[in-house]
Amino acid sequence: MSRRSYWGWGLESDEPTEQQRIDYAKKLSERHGVTLTPPPHPTISGVSLRAPRISAPAELAGICSTDTHDRAGHTYGKSFLDTVKATRGVFPNPPDVVAFPRTEADIVHLLEWCDTAGNVAIPYGGGSSVVGGVEAPKNEARGIVSIDLRELNQVLEVDATSRAARIQAGALGPALDAQLKPHGFTLRHFPQSFEWSTLGGWLATRSGGHYATNHTHIDDFAESIRMVTPRGIWESRRLPGSGAGPSPDRMILGSEGILGIITEAWMRIQARPTFRASAGVTFPTWEAGFEAARRVVQAKLWPANCRLLDPIEAGASAGLDGTRAILILGFESAELSQRWNITEAVRLARDAGGLIDEADILVVDGARGGEDVGRQGAVGEWRNSFIRAPYTRNISAGLGMIGDTFETSITWDRWPEFDRQVRAAVTEALQRVCGGGTLSCRFTHVYTDGPAPYYTYSGLGKPGAEAEMWSEIKKAASDALIAAGGTITHHHAVGRDHRPWYDIQRPDMFASALRAAKKAVDPNGILNPGVLIDP
Ligand SMILES: Cc1cc2nc3c(=O)[nH]c(=O)nc-3n(C[C@H](O)[C@H](O)[C@H](O)COP(=O)(O)OP(=O)(O)OC[C@H]3O[C@@H](n4cnc5c(N)ncnc54)[C@H](O)[C@@H]3O)c2cc1C
Repeated sequence: MSRRSYWGWGLESDEPTEQQRIDYAKKLSERHGVTLTPPPHPTISGVSLRAPRISAPAELAGICSTDTHDRAGHTYGKSFLDTVKATRGVFPNPPDVVAFPRTEADIVHLLEWCDTAGNVAIPYGGGSSVVGGVEAPKNEARGIVSIDLRELNQVLEVDATSRAARIQAGALGPALDAQLKPHGFTLRHFPQSFEWSTLGGWLATRSGGHYATNHTHIDDFAESIRMVTPRGIWESRRLPGSGAGPSPDRMILGSEGILGIITEAWMRIQARPTFRASAGVTFPTWEAGFEAARRVVQAKLWPANCRLLDPIEAGASAGLDGTRAILILGFESAELSQRWNITEAVRLARDAGGLIDEADILVVDGARGGEDVGRQGAVGEWRNSFIRAPYTRNISAGLGMIGDTFETSITWDRWPEFDRQVRAAVTEALQRVCGGGTLSCRFTHVYTDGPAPYYTYSGLGKPGAEAEMWSEIKKAASDALIAAGGTITHHHAVGRDHRPWYDIQRPDMFASALRAAKKAVDPNGILNPGVLIDP
């Protein structure tokens, strides 16, 4: 078995070869009229870390590691900048110890140790955070223990009658789904990071799935959650709904590891869909596309997927010519034909100026149950490039390109002006920092009252100066999102990187209430300091 890459997306076997990096550098050099040279291939033998400042007590030694590969691999999440730093072997602040608990009791003991010894504890799921969520705070004088939940990866119980399953927090997306499959069920929560993120991480960050216009956030699937805090266990009752005061689960959802470590949850599951329908409707303009998306979602047709790509994105990832936008519509069900839904959705999209040939509307009904519907044509192209996208960063890392994404949401009444302001600010920043670049947008999710736009940008940087250049563009983008009335994040979470803008967005009284809650369960402030609030 190949082990996890300590610097890139996926396994060591997913790392690009030297030749692939050279070829890619050549391609980019030609495109930009410059000479880019790939940095040396990262190898763990070339990484030197500060000596561990603490060691685990004897009774925990068996589940703790101070191995360089483990410590380097748990230093960062997987943001653009994380990957650049890890590729270059920059690890100024690694965890001193990485723990791999096998049971919930191990987690209780680990937190007891951290609490009494004055160590920081950082919960670690798949480590796919793109906001500095699993990174130790800078200049942290205390010992740092990264607590990786990978061993707690089982579906423990399935309640087929209520359609719910008790699942351990460290289960990665594919393992979780594979264990539900023999029962005929699925969670159907698919963040792009599905392969390398966990149930606990999804709950802790309120992740947003794709194929998820209807049930978007993991919140919608959580029936009850169990969490270990430094002062005891926090567990809610299994209930389909409850009006009994503020929800204990809602307090855990999005808590990003500052209140406790989620160990398991009862999750609402679904029968695996066998009825599917999909269509990729193209539009002569971006504006016509977003008008169609609004009409479809406000008609309450509840597509599972309602994803709009602007002309640049449609050109890059759906095989179009770069002049047209595309709206990707998908419906699915385990019980009912989706023919009527797709027909009505396409009708609404056509009314807004959309174009699609009748033959390109794909419908598969349960009896035929084909797995491949929706994976053909422009829709299929988009899906494949969506899944592959995180691996391509392994090839481009360290070449000097500055490229990243940022996401938000905004109500329809403010949307077009919001888009104009954000694009103007980021285009100006790209010009100033990189001398130009590309900027594109898609809607990852669409609600009846507004879209969740997701922007992608890229520009030519200078190898070695990526951090400063990226920070300038990130600041311009984040300032623009907040100034124009949006949220600093729709589904990427707050972590440490989004703190300055989250602090402006969230009500001060709420921050006080959150601080008080943290004090009750984590009085010594050991859990993930610097994330969400300063204790
Ligand atoms: C290529 C790529 C694509 C992505 N696509 C999406 C997407 O489509 N949708 C989306 O929502 N996000 C996306 N993300 C962001 C990221 O995958 C999510 O935030 C995800 O939910 C994190 O899960 P994880 O298991 O990797 O958690 P980690 O990255 O390990 O941790 C994230 C945060 O949660 C805390 N945490 C983790 N596990 C626990 C636990 N058991 N108990 C308490 N706290 C815990 C950590 O301390 C940290 O603060 C993407 C990231 C990448 C790199």
